[in-house]
Amino acid sequence: MLPKIDLPIYDLKLPSNGKEVRFRPFLVKEEKLLLMAAKSGDSNEIIRTTKQVINNCLLDNDVNVETLPFFDIDCLFIAMRAKSVGESIEVNYICQSITKDGTPCQSKFPVTIDISNVEIDKNENIKSEIKFNDNLIFYMKYPGYSIIKVLNDNDDSFEKKIKIIIASIDRIFNKDQYYSTKDFSTEELQNFIENLTQEQFDKLAEFTSNFPSFYVKAEGKCDKCGKEHVVRYNDFVRFFQ
Ligand SMILES: [Zn+2]
Repeated sequence: MLPKIDLPIYDLKLPSNGKEVRFRPFLVKEEKLLLMAAKSGDSNEIIRTTKQVINNCLLDNDVNVETLPFFDIDCLFIAMRAKSVGESIEVNYICQSITKDGTPCQSKFPVTIDISNVEIDKNENIKSEIKFNDNLIFYMKYPGYSIIKVLNDNDDSFEKKIKIIIASIDRIFNKDQYYSTKDFSTEELQNFIENLTQEQFDKLAEFTSNFPSFYVKAEGKCDKCGKEHVVRYNDFVRFFQ
């Protein structure tokens, strides 16, 4: 019998709550599943496979990929992929520093991005409790992976904005009573949102347009003008392909 090779184990702090989780990298069989899903072009299939593969690689049983916020899943996926296919990628930037004659330098310079250094941008001014008055309080949550990915496939419409807001409300407090959104249908919730004032709606939208996002900070030097650049890289799309 061939040997069973031990796999490396890594840990990562979940961006949403700082909880430490352990994982192993993707294996060839998992890359194969992801590739097949990507080929199918079916977004439900891609989402299902992504969640399944992440679940396979997670070594802690108390982490549920169904309920984790979408950016935790994104972060886990990038970390697992990075440990599997390589952590650094080279990206070219165009130097925008202004030279003596007043024009931008425009020279290309390479920056090495270390994907294992992912950091999270989180606006601390955005609270999950949105209080309009003593009788009306919204308790918000970060939506799960599936709902966000399905919505991202569609255009950037007002309908989409409403759907993301609905997916982000956990509970509503009104006149001594709590209402949990999971007890209501999408139609009921949609109708409810459409009957809010514009001011109330904007306050909820402020929460959803400030979801945490992640980036990698990296440094590079322009060969032509010598300027040292610090760039923020946030295009992780190729890691999902
Ligand atoms: Zn330059």
